[in-house]
Amino acid sequence: MGAQFFAGQMKPKICIFFCGGTMVMVPNAQGVLVPPSKENALHSVLSLEPRLHGLADIDLEFIANIDSSDMTPDIWDRLVTSIAKSYSHYDGFVVLHGTDTMAYTASAVSFALRNLGKPVVFTGAQIPGHQLESDARRNLVNAVRLACMDVAGVMLVMGEKILLGVRSSKISHSKLNAFASFNWPKLGEVGRQIQILREVQHKQGQDLRLEEGFVSEIAVLSLAPGMPASVLDHLLSQGVKGIVINAYGTGNIPQIYLPSLERARDKNIPIVIRTQCPEGSTQMSVYATGKQALECGAIEAFDMSLESTITKLMWALKRAKTIEEIKTIMHHNYAGEINSDGERAY
Ligand code: ASP
Repeated sequence: MGAQFFAGQMKPKICIFFCGGTMVMVPNAQGVLVPPSKENALHSVLSLEPRLHGLADIDLEFIANIDSSDMTPDIWDRLVTSIAKSYSHYDGFVVLHGTDTMAYTASAVSFALRNLGKPVVFTGAQIPGHQLESDARRNLVNAVRLACMDVAGVMLVMGEKILLGVRSSKISHSKLNAFASFNWPKLGEVGRQIQILREVQHKQGQDLRLEEGFVSEIAVLSLAPGMPASVLDHLLSQGVKGIVINAYGTGNIPQIYLPSLERARDKNIPIVIRTQCPEGSTQMSVYATGKQALECGAIEAFDMSLESTITKLMWALKRAKTIEEIKTIMHHNYAGEINSDGERAY
């Protein structure tokens, strides 16, 4: 699998969507990193590597200029709507994004763009582009190279790794290989060449379907031994529309929480239970403490990453009314995010 164009052929057309992040950030008077003006931000991106224009016909589109800690579902909607609008004009897309919430946005985009037959490649930087040692230039170049290839789907490239967007998680605040793939092997590697290591989807001509819209009023609760059930009851009384619980091991949850789970079911508030383990899946029928939670209406997340569980729940809440309908969406595999066998998928 190589680049999509050959000598004498037209260069691929790539659209880069700019969402902000360290790539263009500069220190303010106090020495802390902040986004520059919109004009300076876009200029910084374009001047990182002028030779990129030899590789592809590139357009740059502005979505946001934020530290990605300030990312919101409204901006996800803006991003996916913009991709959908320009979809037929380009061969591939790159999204420049802060690393802090890149995995959330990559997951959200994976759900909202159905029938995606072209590459959408996320990248960013750990070190600002103006610094000598920055990884910004290299990540940008590699993302554009990947977007020019005959691959499709939402991917993330940082450092040497190419990951499936919906399985990616940020694992290091400083390393250039800042992301890992949760319960899924990496798709490829960046070396002298870009090597695709796994069977990936090729470009396809099917019609893209835009399914934007996320409900952001959710809460995420990580269990700790002894934490009282009143914490969960408090959340249920605050108008949240759904809750993700990071539970133990195979999805086990203290028995004192069971009445709260029943109250959630009575209020039609879905509770999705995932594992706190850094790898693996829920298997909630293994122990009584998991099985009872299922009987109280909890939905298991199986092997989905934290980021894909959260964004999928937000997306599902927009499209379904009952807990049963939410469960059907949560357990459907839309973009490679879930394997519900309770075993490793590879
Ligand atoms: N705080 C930054 C952001 O997520 C970190 C980064 O870009 O790497 O926007």
